[in-house]
Amino acid sequence: MILILKPNIDTEAAEYKQLIDHLSLLQNINFRVHREQGVEQTLTEIHLIGNTATLSLDDMKNLPGVSQAVRVSEEYRILGRHKDDNRAAFFDYQGVRFGQDTLNVFAGLCAVDSRESVEEMMKVLRDNGQVCTRMGAYKPRTSPYSFQGHGKDCLPYVFELAGKYGIKVIAMEITHESHLQEIQEALAMTGNPTGVMLQIGTRNTQNFELLKSVGRQQEFPVLLKRGFGITLDESLNAAEYLASEGNRKVIFGLRGMKTNIGDPHRNFVDFAHVPVVKRLTRMPVCIDPSHSVGARSRGPEGVLDIMHVTAQSVVAGANMILVDFHPAPTKALVDGPQALLISELPLFLEDVKIARSAYEQRLLNYQSAFL
Ligand code: PEP
Ligand code: MN
Repeated sequence: MILILKPNIDTEAAEYKQLIDHLSLLQNINFRVHREQGVEQTLTEIHLIGNTATLSLDDMKNLPGVSQAVRVSEEYRILGRHKDDNRAAFFDYQGVRFGQDTLNVFAGLCAVDSRESVEEMMKVLRDNGQVCTRMGAYKPRTSPYSFQGHGKDCLPYVFELAGKYGIKVIAMEITHESHLQEIQEALAMTGNPTGVMLQIGTRNTQNFELLKSVGRQQEFPVLLKRGFGITLDESLNAAEYLASEGNRKVIFGLRGMKTNIGDPHRNFVDFAHVPVVKRLTRMPVCIDPSHSVGARSRGPEGVLDIMHVTAQSVVAGANMILVDFHPAPTKALVDGPQALLISELPLFLEDVKIARSAYEQRLLNYQSAFL
């Protein structure tokens, strides 16, 4: 059970102390307080764990300081959607809103290879009104002999250039908890010109120690990629690890599944699960058309498969698009064959806009039909 307290409740106030005293006396029930500093208010929740079946929702709702009580199912306690649970399904970071109603595009380099490609990419993003990007510094590669990313060495120029071109959030995968500190240090050294969304890659979805350490910090939001060979439930539980440690600014990323049935794409595109994840949880849902399709193949009408699957997911309500671009894909050190060309960015963004307005029109139709 979750008790949602009155907004901005003072933990020194008498009503808060009375509530804590009351909860401490409950038999076989432990509780954990979670405080979240939002832009407009501080939200305080108390999570009750143990034999909560014996508690009445009405009694709990009437305790001092409580505004709402929600009985949660066992699954995805914090990030899940529960009956009569009207907690927010969004968060703000660096002045950008990430929610189940919004859409953000993160176009950028799969892997940072040179300062020049970073600058070229960021300039075209700025020229096209974009404030988010992807920039891989730490690359988990199948072969130990493949380029592993420039790591911390590239962070200072990536962050400086982001500041120069008005980029507010960079999605960046980390593969070890030490990378968190390297990112913090590079941001501080460059004067915090931008923000970072930490990415947990598909190969690390169930790296529980990494999830716990990333979950213990609340400074950076997290994009958790679905594991490519595990069930959806297992991946959603991985996201819950982040939240259970304290960080609930989590976006769930669909990136395709490893199966031969996925041929001719690199992975079996799983974007039909966009509304499923939105129904099961309060997380915004990201899709990665590049790592799922994995090639620049196109239909007979000339549209790239990457653009088709992006549009399909946006029409179904996707909230974030993580997509590979490169100024010179044949020279890219990682995943060149799936990168879109910089000259294709306006077309891509226009396609996304068309699909988003189709989604909004569909919502209006369904709302007027059912209300
Ligand atoms: C990536 O986005 O750079 C990446 C490696 O993705 P994934 O973990 O989904 O393979
Ligand atoms: Mn890649």
